[in-house]
Amino acid sequence: MKYVDEFRDRNLAKTIAEAIRQEADPARSYNLMEFCGGHTHAIFRYGVKDLMPENVHFVHGPGCPVCVLPVRRLDDAVEIAERHDVILCTYGDMMRVPGTRQRSLIRAKADGADIRMVYSTLDALHIARSNPDRQVVFFAIGFETTTPPTAVAIRQAEKEGLRNFSVFCNHVLTPSAIGHILESPEVRDLGTVRIDGFLGPSHVSSVIGSEPYEFFAEEFGKPVVIAGFEPLDVMQSTLMLVRQINEGRHEVENEYTRVVTRAGNLKAQALVSEIFELRRSFEWRGLGTVPYSALKIRARFAAFDAEKCFAVTEKQSREVKSCECPAILRGVKKPTDCKLFGTVCTPDTPMGSCMVSSEGACAAYWTYGRHRQTARTRRKETAA
Ligand code: SF4
Repeated sequence: MKYVDEFRDRNLAKTIAEAIRQEADPARSYNLMEFCGGHTHAIFRYGVKDLMPENVHFVHGPGCPVCVLPVRRLDDAVEIAERHDVILCTYGDMMRVPGTRQRSLIRAKADGADIRMVYSTLDALHIARSNPDRQVVFFAIGFETTTPPTAVAIRQAEKEGLRNFSVFCNHVLTPSAIGHILESPEVRDLGTVRIDGFLGPSHVSSVIGSEPYEFFAEEFGKPVVIAGFEPLDVMQSTLMLVRQINEGRHEVENEYTRVVTRAGNLKAQALVSEIFELRRSFEWRGLGTVPYSALKIRARFAAFDAEKCFAVTEKQSREVKSCECPAILRGVKKPTDCKLFGTVCTPDTPMGSCMVSSEGACAAYWTYGRHRQTARTRRKETAA
């Protein structure tokens, strides 16, 4: 198959793995954070981790939009659906994330709330058109990749004069989160891990371009390589990071040139800035409050802003006790460090967001990695 097989070629993978082995200095270690959950999955699914030398480590980052949504915002969504008798539309993964006291949207739906899974913002608009006597709220989450479709929906709703459609906006921004991981006192207090370089987001960068990471790379002295999601993309990007670190460089390099440009998608950016503006601060699961890291709907479109249309009550939101998602999202712990992993917490019975989402680190470990450590230990024992 053109454009896929080329990026999964076994012989090329061996060649790149050998180059990384040759170039990684045995006297140092390389801690590389893959910001995106998509990279985490590629690393596990294709066994990229097993091809790395012992001193090249992948650190999982907060790049899963379902995982980073704080419990309070999820509780708010449940409240909007239950208390205001609306039709709440959301993407599938959000349905199963446990909120306070493990209440999820799917449980609220089982108890009678009208919560519907949609595949796109257009589905939500369709539901609004078909139910003119009901208020329809789209529970919007995601990074810069999913923001333009939400903007399109709001503009379309305005154009059609749809007065029963609104958006509960939880769109977040990648560059501020990456900076926050490295510099914020809150994150330092919560615990951090040393990071030598970043595998930069790919889909996000197709919208915002590689330019926004330039200030970051310069300011924090950390190299960034924008990496595609195929295994050879990840491996080639790892090699590029190892080279930069060896040479003492901290630049933004773009491995994913087939999709990402320096400027990104200007049309999408213009649309997003027409509808949204920066929030002064937003809470992220695992990172705490991150300044200017999220978007809100501009006052001109207040009629489509669920936060303006539906009051939610102040509440004491709580994550599941013992769930290590916050530490995993900062790269401080691995899923297997969590006592609940694979015992009470599995994809069928998720206790935290990282096990729900297809991009979550716990789901990646569960699906592709949970037997690997045992296999590796056995291999070492047999070889000894
Ligand atoms: S295994 Fe489950 S409980 Fe533990 S960190 Fe992952 S999602 Fe949370």
